[in-house]
Order: sequence, then structure tokens, then C-alpha cells
Amino acid sequence: MSNETFFAPSDLKEACALLSELGETAVILAGGTDLMVRFNRRRRNRKETLVYVGNLSLDYISETDGRLIIGACATLADIADSPLVKKKLPLLALTCGEMASPAIRNAATLGGNLGTNARNADGVAALMALGAVVVITSADGESRIPIEEYVSMPKKQKLANGGIIKQFEVPCLMADDRWGWEKLRQRRGEGRSIVSVSVRAGMTGDICKRIRLVLGAVAVHPFISKTAIQNLEGKQLSADLIKKVSEEIVAEIDPTSDARASAWYREKAAQALVRRTLSQIA
Ligand SMILES: Cc1cc2nc3c(=O)[nH]c(=O)nc-3n(C[C@H](O)[C@H](O)[C@H](O)COP(=O)(O)OP(=O)(O)OC[C@H]3O[C@@H](n4cnc5c(N)ncnc54)[C@H](O)[C@@H]3O)c2cc1C
Repeated sequence: MSNETFFAPSDLKEACALLSELGETAVILAGGTDLMVRFNRRRRNRKETLVYVGNLSLDYISETDGRLIIGACATLADIADSPLVKKKLPLLALTCGEMASPAIRNAATLGGNLGTNARNADGVAALMALGAVVVITSADGESRIPIEEYVSMPKKQKLANGGIIKQFEVPCLMADDRWGWEKLRQRRGEGRSIVSVSVRAGMTGDICKRIRLVLGAVAVHPFISKTAIQNLEGKQLSADLIKKVSEEIVAEIDPTSDARASAWYREKAAQALVRRTLSQIA
């Protein structure tokens, strides 16, 4: 850390102006639980300038017009423990409470989870299943982008001209919504996902009206399954249909092998987790 230049602006406008001026040499620092690991492993250019966003008062969680507004610097622990999130978006509260370890969750932020753009970013997967919109503030103003579009945008476009992830806007669960979640990891505590499945579905009895089923850790980033939408919307969630979808969904994934699991294992696990998650909402 000693070679770094470090700025800690105290307002959002100032932070965007600073980031815009510094251009590509600037790196945003939030909780540091991803970034500092990379610095410590010498995976990043140590001449980069760090811009800390923890003093920008972006740690709010509130409700407006049927949506929860969650500041990018709300920590995973804040979100997991929030009575509002537990009541209105239990899928997100559960996901954040099952990420990393308690010490990491007290520092790690939801904005940082999206900032890393990792294949196994659990917060991103949950936000995607819930239909979240990402709000970016930059020197050009504010833009609102559905999270599934944001993750696949070119890197340079995402935070152009001093952009900062400001907040997430997430529609609260409605009366006919059901949700399900599964995360396979090596051990509880600090285990990252080997495979995860997050789902939000509008149901009438056992008929599925709409569904957002998100697979994590089996492609370059979490994604919404088209197989689930095509096969399940308008249909009765029978055991046979759930089995069929869990088998066909494999065609959509692109798993890799790493220290946690082989690609073969991830494929088998994805099938099992999809079956289990859909059974939770049927
Ligand atoms: C032991 C361990 C276990 C972990 N387990 C999990 C797990 O189970 N699931 C999981 O998903 N992750 C896990 N992580 C990864 C990490 O904790 C999360 O991704 C966390 O949410 C990152 O948040 P942060 O605030 O620490 O981000 P930082 O490390 O500060 O930043 C991460 C990236 O996001 C960018 N960034 C941060 N904030 C913003 C912003 N507001 N606007 C724009 N860009 C921004 C930074 O520039 C950087 O590129 C784990 C990490 C560790 C060390």
C-alpha cells in the first residue's frame, strides 16, 4: 500500500470529478475485500491511485414506491441484518448473510460485489433474479441500467467519465411472488459459490406466470436462464417439467475447472441445484 496515492473524497460530485480527471489510473476502493487481495498478490499495477468511496454516505437502505433503494456502500452485513430487506427482499438478505465470513461481511459492500464482476458474485446473482436496476453517477450525470445489461457492457463503457455505482433499485416482492435460493460451496463460513441458483417467480397456485432464474459461477458472469423462461412461463410446475428444465439448462452454461471444482462437477451440481430451487417455488 505504501506506494499508492490515496484520495478519500467526502461528496459524490467531488468523487466523480476526481475519477474523471484521473481517468484510467484511478481505482475505486470500497470495503477492499476483493481489491486488497489483488494488491497483496501483486495482481495489480501498484502505481494506481486509489479513490475511497466509503465517505460518500452511500450506505443507506430505504423503501420508495414499492422498491428498496440500497446504497452501493451498504455492507453485506448491513443488508443481511436489515429488517426491511429481510421483509421485502428475503432472497437478498439470505444471500448476503451466506457470503464470505462475518469479518468480511462487515467490510464488503454490495457495490464492490458488482464492481468485481466475478463469475461467482453471489450478490449480483440475487440482484439479477430480483430484477434490480443499477444507478451509475458520473461527471455526465446519472444513468439507470438493468443489472443484466450492466454486467455484459464493455468495461470502459460501464463507468465512463468518472462513473461510480451509486445504488441499486430493487422491486419488492409482490403478493404472488415466490423465491428460491441454493448455493453449493466447499464449506460454510467463507466459501465462494461452486454453483448458485437464485430465482424469483410470480405464481398462481402451481402455475408459473413469470420467472427470473439466475445461475451463478457457471459462466463469465451470473445470467438469467432463457431455458427456464421458455419452458416454465404459463406452465404448471410439475416434477416432470422441473426435471426436464434442469437437464436442458446445461446447454446454457459454460463451466470451468478450478481449485474448488471441475467443470464436470459444476455441470452435475447445476442440474441438481436448479431442480431443488424450482421445487422450492412449485
Ligand atoms: C475470504 C473471502 C470470501 C469471499 N466470499 C465471497 C462469497 O461467498 N461470495 C461473493 O460473491 N464474494 C465473496 N468474496 C468477494 C468479496 O468479498 C465481495 O465481492 C465483496 O462484495 C466486494 O466488496 P468490497 O466493498 O470489498 O469491494 P472492493 O474490494 O473495495 O472493490 C472490488 C471492485 O469493485 C470496484 N468498486 C467497489 N465499489 C465500487 C463502486 N461504488 N462503484 C464502482 N466500482 C466499485 C473496485 O474498484 C474493485 O474493482 C469473498 C472475499 C474473500 C476475501
